[in-house]
Amino acid sequence: MTIAPRDDLALMAGYHSPQVDVAVRLNTNEAPEPPPAGFTAALAEAVATLEWHRYPDRAYRALREAIAAHHSVDPVQVFAANGSNEVLQTLCLTYGGAGRTAAVFEPTYALHSHIARITGTGVATGERTDDLALDLAEVRRVLAAAEPAITFLCSPNNPTGMLDDEATVREVLDLAPGLLVVDEAYGQFAPWSALELVADDRPLVVTRTYSKTWSMAAARLGYLIGPRDLVAQLDQVALPYHLDAVKQVAGRIALDFEDAMRSRVAALVEERGRLVARLTELPVTVWPSAANFILFRPHERDGAAVWQALLDRSVLVRDCSSWPRLDGCLRVTIGTPAEDDAFLAALEDALA
Ligand code: PMP
Repeated sequence: MTIAPRDDLALMAGYHSPQVDVAVRLNTNEAPEPPPAGFTAALAEAVATLEWHRYPDRAYRALREAIAAHHSVDPVQVFAANGSNEVLQTLCLTYGGAGRTAAVFEPTYALHSHIARITGTGVATGERTDDLALDLAEVRRVLAAAEPAITFLCSPNNPTGMLDDEATVREVLDLAPGLLVVDEAYGQFAPWSALELVADDRPLVVTRTYSKTWSMAAARLGYLIGPRDLVAQLDQVALPYHLDAVKQVAGRIALDFEDAMRSRVAALVEERGRLVARLTELPVTVWPSAANFILFRPHERDGAAVWQALLDRSVLVRDCSSWPRLDGCLRVTIGTPAEDDAFLAALEDALA
């Protein structure tokens, strides 16, 4: 027996990133190392005292307070969920839906339009420039034509790595007729954050994740900082007890290791500089990155063939070569220096 899904879901392709067993995995922008050893020990200790037979704190107060303290905001400006993807989904459930539209500027994070569609939200698509930068004239045109309830920016943008500066975000905020979402999944790797613009009288939220900087992709935890009344509305839409007790504790304890994480981010930013410098010496086009990954396009070689040649050398990167607007492009996550050396050697080989 086959039960048909909703008509508007039937033609949608899912979101897939191959999980292949390789020596060097640089395809999903994770942190290259597990959390500091002290984190695991502290977590084990806290987990041992959990009241397993009770539902967790529905308002996840301790976690909220820790995130709020980390960003010097009020706990009631924090909304957390199971990965920033679920934060984005809750935003679409609350402010999108039937008869409403979300605007995206491609190429950008595929889940923005995907989650919008899954929640029944229409999608208005704008184009970036040929060099993949945000085009304010195009933003003006799309927002005026579609009047979206939600406008998505992604800064640094996945998969290009490019950052939207303060003037740009302010201008989009002025133009957007509804909510502006700035997805900062890679915000810690960038020199500027839209967090400083968040205020109760501005329809702006900034989303963040534990999956990259905090080495906690396995935990599935993300959050946003936004206006107080917006957070209260999201609280009403989220399922009861949506954040389990282990995750609440893990997210809180992680923030005790802020110094370690800051130095790891600094090391990755330095390593990014080294990788960009080496890539620039090869026959590839490289985009400037403010994130923990780099987009590049091999000259005179088919992107998919280079991807396969890297995989044959047990190096997995993201194959964007067949994605619209990213013809021939590959995206590599910054790894440990040893992983990055393995990638560079494999790439030199593949391009030779
Ligand atoms: N936003 C962007 C731009 C991302 O690249 C990712 C991860 N690929 C996410 C959100 C989702 O992160 P999380 O693991 O927190 O769901």
